[in-house]
Amino acid sequence: SLTAGIVGLPNVGKSTLFNAITKAGVEAANYPFATIDPNVGVVEVPDKRLNEITKLVQPKKTVPTTIEFTDIAGIVKGASRGEGLGNKFLSHIRQVDAICHVVRCFDDGNITHVSGKVDPISDIETINLELILADLETIDKRIARVGKLARTKDKDAVAEMEVLEKLKEALENDQLANSVEFYDEQLPFVRNLFLLTRKKMLYVANIGEDEVTDSSDNPYLAQVRELAATQGAEVVPVCARLEEEIAELDDEEKAVFLEDFGIEESGLDRLIQHVYSLLGLATYFTAGEQEVRAWTFVKGMKAPQAAGVIHSDFERGFIRAETVSYDDLINYQSMSAAKENGRVRSEGKEYVVQDGDIMLFRFNV
Ligand code: GDP
Repeated sequence: SLTAGIVGLPNVGKSTLFNAITKAGVEAANYPFATIDPNVGVVEVPDKRLNEITKLVQPKKTVPTTIEFTDIAGIVKGASRGEGLGNKFLSHIRQVDAICHVVRCFDDGNITHVSGKVDPISDIETINLELILADLETIDKRIARVGKLARTKDKDAVAEMEVLEKLKEALENDQLANSVEFYDEQLPFVRNLFLLTRKKMLYVANIGEDEVTDSSDNPYLAQVRELAATQGAEVVPVCARLEEEIAELDDEEKAVFLEDFGIEESGLDRLIQHVYSLLGLATYFTAGEQEVRAWTFVKGMKAPQAAGVIHSDFERGFIRAETVSYDDLINYQSMSAAKENGRVRSEGKEYVVQDGDIMLFRFNV
């Protein structure tokens, strides 16, 4: 499954955030295949629609869908030259699908900052520079190989060199590879490089406890937002320490706690949702008397592929899918009423599944 990696300089609150994630983590009974790697936390994706469908269908069991976070500790200045956990760290980043870059945006005299003062912009640049240097190394190696071929006028090599040089120039100007635009036919060359700065990324601004209700006076957060805007990246303000406390509460206590703070959703829940959409993910539901369940699919998937998320047999033997949109189901209050009103569609192999669809797959075994 898709996974988001948590990175950031030491002492910015990564472990605190990761603890919150593991404490809030899923009940293993519902997800027997959930990983047991201590650096991976599996959390449920909050979705109000799932609760509404449950109310209508009254199943024996309701199962949310999940997403994984990996704790990637150990980035320091010089990581790309092998300092700290250096290369090991970089290879862990290579395996994630999205990067959550945690930045310290809280003042606390008791907690040392690695470079002496709270300065989110310089922190971000430090980390991004390490990623950029690692990518430049990847590109230089590739140029050394492809360059020779390109000089023999090999067509593919010439095309690839164009891509490599464009990337190199951007990275040398401290730009992330994900800010560079390419033609469709160039993209395979880019993907093939597995660059770190080509990954989807968002910033997690770790703010102080007293700023959770209103963070508009936090100057660090404003700086991060400004920088992120130039990269087209999103910023999710979170108070890691508070999230750790919230993660210990049951649902009812959590609701009371959030109300006391005057907030609707926990920072962690917001982060989960942002990562979900950053990865281009969406949810469809299955709704039976036994179980109402949310399933993650990648936006753009057609019905057979989406069915394959449940089981490969569903994809292989796919015949059609009875489909009703979430809004229609809620509107008519039951499957049968939705059907009587012609809102349940029979969709075939070419149907592009929509976020919120309730699906019943018909398949051959
Ligand atoms: P890491 O090195 O990035 O994993 O950072 P830690 O999670 O270990 O946090 C470093 C220190 O900052 C710890 O003492 C945390 O308790 C503290 N800390 C983390 N988040 C917050 C926060 O939101 N507010 C405050 N005041 N302290 C925090």
